[in-house]
Amino acid sequence: METRENAAKTIHLPLMGGQSPILDIDAELAKFEAEERKRLGLEDGKEHWRDEVAKTFKESQRAHTTILVCGLTMAHDLFVEGALTGLGYTVKHLDVPDNNALRVGKEFGNRGQCNPTYFTVGNVVKYLVYLRDEKGLSVEEINEKYLFLTAGACGPCRFGMYATEYRKALRDAGFDGFRVMLFQQQGGIKQATGEKEGLELNPAFFIKILQAILTGDVLNAIGYRIRPYEVVPGSTNEALEHCKRIIHRALSENRSLIPALVETRRIMAGVPIDRTIIKPKVCIIGEFWAMTTEGDGNYGLQKFLEQEGAECDIQLVAAWILFMVWENQYDTRERMYLRGTDNGRKSLKAPAEAAIKLLKLKFADKAVRVIFQSFAYLMGLEGYHLPDMDLIAKEAKDYYNLNVRGGEAHMEVGKLVLTVKKKKATMVLSVKPFGCMPSSGVSDGVQSIITEKHPDAIFLPIETNGDGAVNVYSRVQMILFKARLAAKAEMAKALEETGMTLDEVRELQKLPWLGRTLHHPAHAHQGASASDFVYEAAKWKKRLARLGGAPKKLLQIAASF
Ligand code: SF4
Repeated sequence: METRENAAKTIHLPLMGGQSPILDIDAELAKFEAEERKRLGLEDGKEHWRDEVAKTFKESQRAHTTILVCGLTMAHDLFVEGALTGLGYTVKHLDVPDNNALRVGKEFGNRGQCNPTYFTVGNVVKYLVYLRDEKGLSVEEINEKYLFLTAGACGPCRFGMYATEYRKALRDAGFDGFRVMLFQQQGGIKQATGEKEGLELNPAFFIKILQAILTGDVLNAIGYRIRPYEVVPGSTNEALEHCKRIIHRALSENRSLIPALVETRRIMAGVPIDRTIIKPKVCIIGEFWAMTTEGDGNYGLQKFLEQEGAECDIQLVAAWILFMVWENQYDTRERMYLRGTDNGRKSLKAPAEAAIKLLKLKFADKAVRVIFQSFAYLMGLEGYHLPDMDLIAKEAKDYYNLNVRGGEAHMEVGKLVLTVKKKKATMVLSVKPFGCMPSSGVSDGVQSIITEKHPDAIFLPIETNGDGAVNVYSRVQMILFKARLAAKAEMAKALEETGMTLDEVRELQKLPWLGRTLHHPAHAHQGASASDFVYEAAKWKKRLARLGGAPKKLLQIAASF
């Protein structure tokens, strides 16, 4: 009898008019491996090439070693620096990578990499050159006193090779032996970097990093919500800088974050805004680094969009963390069916093991959400919901195989579908580095069927390669014209449906609870924030009308503040 185990290893080949022969997959694979070994001259048991890590970071070196960090937004990098400083490390966050970093990265990196590698490693090399040429440190001193800490993963896209690429570029730039240390994104807290380590990847490390990332997320989200509607130009950025200093200080002094976050709320609440300004909301999706960075890596896209009169709806790093948890949950469920045949290092040999793992992952998902919402509550990010990863997968699965990984995988497709269906934004902009395999190679192909099915969607995919800014800007400007018209049409519809005028809405904005800077109008199935606000103002107009002459009185009182 053919058991389930055997069935997994054999395939019945279709054969017309007779019994189909059985293909033994294991035997076929072994045969193929033998042939390939012969072809590549590996029959004599030659070892696979390994990327040798030059030196490690020992506990005794901690006092005189500076850890360099960079790669996320300015707020995140600063807060990660603060968090690690609070744990007793000496840390320096580097500037956001610019085109000069890209040039340096390309000079020393391998050909054919995606540009996050070039930008990031170029940024590190640039800093090391500054230490050598302007600070007068020798290469030996730099190698001894500095190291670069970055996130790593096993791919399956080029991301899996980043650390090796960094080491190669650093070697070719004259910093052979410079330490690049990774904490694997999927490895959780069970990792070790070798002997007695200088970098302790313990729960305290990950909790602090999580705090830094989530506070950075919340602060960024507040900033992008407020800035397009500020009444005094520059006031949001000024308030954000103030908040960054406060949070950074609390993190680096290892104090409770609560007072700092409450203070942040007070500062951001003081930025005067006008919520009735009509602006298209642009949801930025795409490859993780390209949509996250705030510099030349995406041609300063967020800033450019705001200058062109749009509101940016950015993706948070928390969504990426939740996606990694979701991937683990999905894979665990898939592996449950491999019990008995799966002899891998992480195989799940008993039903209880799978259940325990799923329980832990569920806890991780909930923990991220609870911490995020607590920070959001304290800092004043109202009405923000982290994405539901199961819903994203459900919406994407008809277009993108959930087993295909790399970059944002199916998430990019799911986000577009949900944004269009739920009218979360006026327009969607998908940004990715030139030649990004998962994003431009796969997602962009899939997105065309989504836009076919939803012809009202305003969608633009753009690729960044460092030197095509003018081209990208003009394409964005053209599509923004369409988005602006859509936002105006939405506003006209909202005013017509509610029977209000814009002046009336402005009057109602004077009500303290509606005019609060941190107040976020409920989503009324409109893309732009201003039209959401019209529907909310209309509800309050009705409520107040029931109180007779009270609205006028209330408005007069509110206006006197
Ligand atoms: S997702 Fe794209 S840009 Fe990012 S590492 Fe992978 S291939 Fe490169």
